[in-house]
Amino acid sequence: KQVLLEVENLKKHFFLEKGEVLKAVDGISIQIFKGETFGLVGESGCGKSTAGRTIIGLYDRTDGSVSYDGDDVHGMNEKETFAFYRKMQMIFQDPYASLNPRSTVKEIILEPMEVHNLHSGKRARLERVYQLLEDVGLNREHANRYPHEFSGGQRQRIGIARALALDPEFIIADEPISALDVSVQAQVVNLLKRLQKEKMLTYLFIAHDLSMVKQISDRIAVMYLGHIVELSNSWELYKKPLHPYTQALLSAIPIPDPDVEDRRERIILKGELPSPITPPSGCVFRTRCPFEMDICATEKPVWQEVEEKHYAACHLYNSEQPGDKAKPQLAG
Ligand code: SF4
Ligand code: MG
Repeated sequence: KQVLLEVENLKKHFFLEKGEVLKAVDGISIQIFKGETFGLVGESGCGKSTAGRTIIGLYDRTDGSVSYDGDDVHGMNEKETFAFYRKMQMIFQDPYASLNPRSTVKEIILEPMEVHNLHSGKRARLERVYQLLEDVGLNREHANRYPHEFSGGQRQRIGIARALALDPEFIIADEPISALDVSVQAQVVNLLKRLQKEKMLTYLFIAHDLSMVKQISDRIAVMYLGHIVELSNSWELYKKPLHPYTQALLSAIPIPDPDVEDRRERIILKGELPSPITPPSGCVFRTRCPFEMDICATEKPVWQEVEEKHYAACHLYNSEQPGDKAKPQLAG
C-alpha cells in the first residue's frame, strides 16, 4: 500500500493571553494510504478539526510534520501551496456557512476552476459544472439557483461539487454529515463512497459519531484531548475496542451493530472533557477513566501495537506488567 499522507508528531498549540497555551493537537502521528478512508473520531473539543486544518495547511503547525506524497506541506512556498490545493481539498460541517449566499451554484463551482485557470473557455467550464452537479446527484437546472434555495443535504452536495472542481486526490471531510438530518446522512455517505470509487479519492473523514464513521472508514483513529489514543481497522475497533475511551464512545451508541454480539456494558464517563490548556498529567484520559491506576497520573502511556495492527496508548496494556492484558473486559 502506498502511503499518501504522513503526519508525524504534529502539534498545533494556540498561544493565548496571560501566557496560556491551548494544546489543541499535541503530537499526533498517522499514515493514510492511497485510496482508503481514514476516520478520525472524538467528541467535540478533542482537536480533530484543528488537526484537519493543520494537516491541509490552513493553520501553521507548532511542531511535527505533514508530508503529502513526499512533499512537506508546511515547507511549501505560496506557489507550491496553491498547486497543492489542487490535490487536497476540504469539505466542511456547515456547507451553508462555506457557500457564498450571493453567488449562484454555477458561480460557486466555477470559482476554483477560474482561480486555478482550469478547463479554459467559458463553454468547457460550464460543461464541467454541469458534469459535477450530475456527479453529486444534482442537475443543470440547479446551476442558476442560490444556496438558500436548497436543503441541507443538497447544500452539502454543492460543497462536495465545489471541492471536486479541481479534481483533487485527497479530501478532508470535517464532519460533513453532522449538521444533516439522520435520514439524509446515509445519502451523503453513500455519495462520498461512490465518488471515492469513481474518482479514486482518498479521504480523511472527521466525525464525532462512531456509528456513521464505521460505514465509510477502512481504519479509524480515536482522538482525545489532542492525542490519538487508539487506531485500528474499523471492524476490529468495533469488535474489540481496547482503550477505555473508545469503549465508552461505543457503549454510547444506542443501537448496537447487528453484526456484533452486544456484550458491552454502558460506560458513563465521569466528569467533563478537561481543558486543553491544563491537560491532566500522565494519561490525558485519566480524570474520566473507570480503570485509572496510580501509574496513570505519573507516566504517559506509550503507543503500542497491542494486537496485530491495532494500536492503543493505555497502561492497561503494558507488556511489562504481567496479567494486565486480560484486565479490561468491559468491551468483551
Ligand atoms: Fe485509563 Fe490509565 Fe489507560 Fe489512561 S492509561 S486510559 S487512565 S487505564
Ligand atoms: Mg469540529
